[in-house]
Amino acid sequence: MNKEYKDYCDLMRKISDVNYSAAVLGWDQEVYMPSAGAKDRAGQLATLSGISHELFTDKNVGTLLKKLHGDSSLSFKEKRNVEETEKSYTDLSKYSTEFVMKMSRAVSEAYQAWDKAKKEKNFEVFAPALEKLVELKREECELLSYKDHPYDALLDQYERGSTVKELSILFEEVKLHLVPFVKRISETKQNDASFLNLFYPKDKQWEFGIDLLKQMKYDFSAGRQDVSSHPFTTSFGPRDVRVTTRINENDLSEMIWSCIHEGGHALYEQGLDAEEYGLPSSEAVSLGIHESQSRLWENHVGRGESYWKLNYKKLQAIFPENLASVSEEQFYKAINQVKPSLVRTSADELTYHFHVIIRFEIEKALIEGSIQVKDLPRIWNEKYLNYLGVKVGSADKGVLQDIHWSHGSFGYFPTYSVGSFYAAQFYAKAQKDIPSLNEKIESGNFMPLLEWLRKNIHVHGKLYLPEELCVRVTGEKLNFKYFMEYARAKYTHLYQLKPL
Ligand code: ZN
Repeated sequence: MNKEYKDYCDLMRKISDVNYSAAVLGWDQEVYMPSAGAKDRAGQLATLSGISHELFTDKNVGTLLKKLHGDSSLSFKEKRNVEETEKSYTDLSKYSTEFVMKMSRAVSEAYQAWDKAKKEKNFEVFAPALEKLVELKREECELLSYKDHPYDALLDQYERGSTVKELSILFEEVKLHLVPFVKRISETKQNDASFLNLFYPKDKQWEFGIDLLKQMKYDFSAGRQDVSSHPFTTSFGPRDVRVTTRINENDLSEMIWSCIHEGGHALYEQGLDAEEYGLPSSEAVSLGIHESQSRLWENHVGRGESYWKLNYKKLQAIFPENLASVSEEQFYKAINQVKPSLVRTSADELTYHFHVIIRFEIEKALIEGSIQVKDLPRIWNEKYLNYLGVKVGSADKGVLQDIHWSHGSFGYFPTYSVGSFYAAQFYAKAQKDIPSLNEKIESGNFMPLLEWLRKNIHVHGKLYLPEELCVRVTGEKLNFKYFMEYARAKYTHLYQLKPL
């Protein structure tokens, strides 16, 4: 290994030490920190992020990267690491300290305003702060620069290479196929799912969730689960990847699928190359691919028939008072109920994408300046009526429901849909590659699937770009067809739709 590359690795590891330490504090903040600790914790986190930023944007890093750029003695992996770091370095150096501080202040203001507005169910409380934030985001697009559309600059931050043009084509296809399909489903008789909302005691739910994580081979010697108000996964390197879950005693679904979802994210993080700690080759490739891993486990495995052939009797035995009279088939139908609704996070796996499309269209229009912040509630409500056929009552269940905009996260939402579509494409390939995958799941043998994901996706970290990775794994670029085929097969059977 040449000396410059070794210096580069040492520096990257040092920066990661700082970042992961901040992540530990962030995890603690969500899970254990007493509320009085909030003020000092914010200061501690700001100090660490300042140190990390200084270390990374130091001139020496630029000089080192310049020396390594195009160095023909580097291996493929080393070369890719350097390229990825160069990209982050170039992006970060486009921001002046002044801009970063302005943005950070605007985000704190927006978050507080959003929090208040949501509690008061009043968009007006949020609007001025959001306006300021949108203005800054538009400025940010110019700083970062773009080819076709300003929103591309933001999309690229979350999913490299993602553009308005490509997403518009993708979402048009989604609308074309999914809208009429969901319409056909809504015209049939709904399955009863009310037993999922009986009383399910916390402790018993917790035990069951832990069992599900163990079953999917989440490694508890390199992680742990806790409870938080919003479930999440966080990593301090591949050898310490933590998940949280949320337990609602009146809704069994929340715990089960948040456990499996976060478990999927965590398996990805635990499967990254621990020896490459601190380097891009040990980091997840993109948010979309990350989400593909959580969705694959949550939907393709966790909402599948084989999974419940394996687990339903166990669940019934834990909650006999609620489930003894519910058959496995009734349960399977209930957990796959398709029903247009107001809130994205509790949407089913089909109508979910309409929620994402609405946000994509609104964000694009805000960033290009074709709509104004003050018109958001009206536009939001119109789109919900249009795409989902639901009437928005109050703003907390409408335009104010998601935290993302208050964080300044514009361009984030599409990764949720893109992730689901990647998941369908990956899972279709896994089913081809792994003989009798369903039978294996039914017998509780998850290793072949996990090994397949490890080998094809996890272990590569950022060595390939998202699109490249998809081509390597499945032989083609992201193709919505796989999601639609999966949806058609599953829901035609579930709702006994007549073939067209
Ligand atoms: Zn997720």
